Amino acid sequence: MKKILFLVFYIFTALLYSSSVPEALDLSIPNKNIGKNLAFFEDTSGEMSLAQIKNLSLNEFTPLNKNVATHLFTTSAFWYRFEVRNNKSTPLSRLIIFGIPWLDSIKIAVIDHNGKESIYEGGDTFAYEKRALNHTFPNFSHEFAPGYSTVYIQIKTRDPFIVPISITDQLTFLEEAATESNQTGFIYGIIVGMLFYNLFIFLSIRVRFYAFYVLYLSAFLITNASYRCFTFEWLFYDNPTVQNWAESTTIFLFNIIGLFFTQSFLNLKKHFPILHRMTNSIILIFIGMMIVTPIMGYHYHVMVAVALTVVFSLYAFSIAFYSLFKGYRYALFFLLGTSAGLIGSSITALTVMALIPYSDIGFKAVDYGMAIDAILLSLALGERVRMLQDEKLTAQLEAKTDELTGLFNRRAYDEITLNEVHRCQRYGGELSLIMLDIDYFKNINDTFGHAAGDQVLLGIVGVLKSMLREYDYAFRIGGEEFMVVLPETGGNHAAHLAERLRIAIENMSVLYFNHTISTTVSLGITEYRIDEMDIKEAQKRVDEALYAAKEAGRNQISVKTQSD
Ligand code: GH3
Ligand code: MG
Ligand code: MG
Repeated sequence: MKKILFLVFYIFTALLYSSSVPEALDLSIPNKNIGKNLAFFEDTSGEMSLAQIKNLSLNEFTPLNKNVATHLFTTSAFWYRFEVRNNKSTPLSRLIIFGIPWLDSIKIAVIDHNGKESIYEGGDTFAYEKRALNHTFPNFSHEFAPGYSTVYIQIKTRDPFIVPISITDQLTFLEEAATESNQTGFIYGIIVGMLFYNLFIFLSIRVRFYAFYVLYLSAFLITNASYRCFTFEWLFYDNPTVQNWAESTTIFLFNIIGLFFTQSFLNLKKHFPILHRMTNSIILIFIGMMIVTPIMGYHYHVMVAVALTVVFSLYAFSIAFYSLFKGYRYALFFLLGTSAGLIGSSITALTVMALIPYSDIGFKAVDYGMAIDAILLSLALGERVRMLQDEKLTAQLEAKTDELTGLFNRRAYDEITLNEVHRCQRYGGELSLIMLDIDYFKNINDTFGHAAGDQVLLGIVGVLKSMLREYDYAFRIGGEEFMVVLPETGGNHAAHLAERLRIAIENMSVLYFNHTISTTVSLGITEYRIDEMDIKEAQKRVDEALYAAKEAGRNQISVKTQSD
C-alpha cells in the first residue's frame, strides 16, 4: 500500500514538474506554434521592464500548455519566456514569427548563455518595414549562439490577443508563406469572381439586393485585407495609426453592410415592416458605436467591432429563421447561402476574442465560409432571379383576371380592345362587340343569397366559354356585366352568336343546394367601324343597344349600327 501511494505521489510530482518547466526548443528543426514550450507572466501595469521580468523567479511564470496563447482583450502586457538550444558549434540564424499581423507591440530579448542580450521590437504600431522579411506576419531574425539561450517576449495589443509564435529557418517560413498566400489567393479569387458575377446581375436587372451583396463581398475583402494587414503592406506601410484604425473601422463597416444586405435580401420592408424598422435601429446603433467608441479609446473600438460581428451573425440568422418560419421561402436561400459565412465570421470572432481555443481553421473560418457562401449564394441568387420573374408574370396575369370567374377583367379589356382596334386599322378586317347583362340578377341574390348568385355567374361564364371561338375574348367588366370581343366578325354574325348565347343561357339552370335556378340575359350588339378613332363610340353604341334590349322587356338581343 505504501509503495502504491509513493508511486502515485511520484507520478503526480513528475507530472507537476514536467508541466511547470517547459522543455527547451531544439533549433535544428522548424518549431511551429511553440506555445507548449512557453511560460507566461501577466504584467497588469503594462509597464514592467525587462530587468524586472528577468528578476522574477521561474515559478512566477505559468506554463501555457497549449500551442497558441490567447487572452481576452486586455491592457496588460503579457511576457512569454522560453529556452532554446543550438546543438551546433556555430551560430544558427532563425526567424521568430508571429502568426497574427495585428499585434501592436512586440518586444523580444534573446539572452545567450554568456548573458549577451539582443533586443528587437516591432508590431503594427511600428512602420511596416520594421521586420526581417517582407511579410504581413511580424518576424525577427536572430543569430542564436551555440548552447542554450533564453528568450523573453513582451506583447502589448489593444486588438484581439492571440500570439502564435514559431521559430523556423527562413526557407521553411518562405515555403509556408507561399502555401498560405496561394490559399488566400484562391479564396480571394472565388470571392472576387462572385463579386463581378453579382455586379453584372445587378447592372442588368437592377434589383437592389444584388448591389448590397456586391457591397457585402467588397466589405468582406476590404475588412479581411485590413485585419490581415495587407493594407499595411500595400497602403499604410508608414502610417501604423491609420492601419490600426482601418482594422477596427472596416470590421464595423462589414457588420453594417451585412445588416443592410440581410434586410434587403429578406425584403423586410415589404414582408416584415416591424423587423425592417428594428434592423434600421440596429444599423443606427452599430453606426453610433462605430462613431462613439473611439472617444473611449482604440481598445474599445476594436473590442466592440469584433463583438458586434457575433451579434450581427446571430441577428441575421434569427430573422432569417423567423421569416422562413413565417412562410417567406426566399429566407431558405438566405440561410443556405450565408450560413457558412455567418458561422465562419462568428467562429473567427470567437477565436480572436479567445473565447474558443485557437486553431488555424478557426482563425480563417470566415474566409472559408465566405468563399463557400459566395458560390452557394450566387447560385441561389440566380435561382431567385428566375423566381422573381415568375412572380412578376403571375402578378401581371393576376392584375388582368377576375378572381371569381377567371375571365379577363376590365383592365385587360382596355388593353386588348386597343390592340384589336389597331389591328383593324392597320390590316383591315372586322370587329364586333356583344355586351351581356343578367336580367333581374338582384332578385337571385335576394332570394337565394349572394353565393347562389355567384354560382349563376359561373354558369353563364361556362356557357360563354363553351360557345366562343378560340380567338374570341370574354371579359367580366362589371358585377353581372360581360363583354364579348369578336375579331374578324361582322355585326350580323355577332347578332347570330348573341342570339344563340341568349337561348343557351335561357335553357341553362344552376343547381344550388336543393334549388334549380334559371335566368335570362339581355344582349346588345354592335360592330366597330375602321373610320372610328378608337373603340369608345362602339362601346357607347353597344351600351345603348343593351339598354334598348332591357327596355324592350329583357331576355332579348338588340343591334345598334353606326348609322342608327
Ligand atoms: P337588370 O335586369 O335591370 O339588369 O336588373 P339587375 O337586378 O340584374 O340589375 P342591378 O344592377 O339592379 O343589380 C345587379 C346586382 O348584381 C346587384 C349586385 O348585388 C349583384 N352583383 C354584382 N356583382 C356580384 C357578384 O359578384 N356576385 C353576386 N352574387 N352578385 C353580384
Ligand atoms: Mg494593432
Ligand atoms: Mg342585371
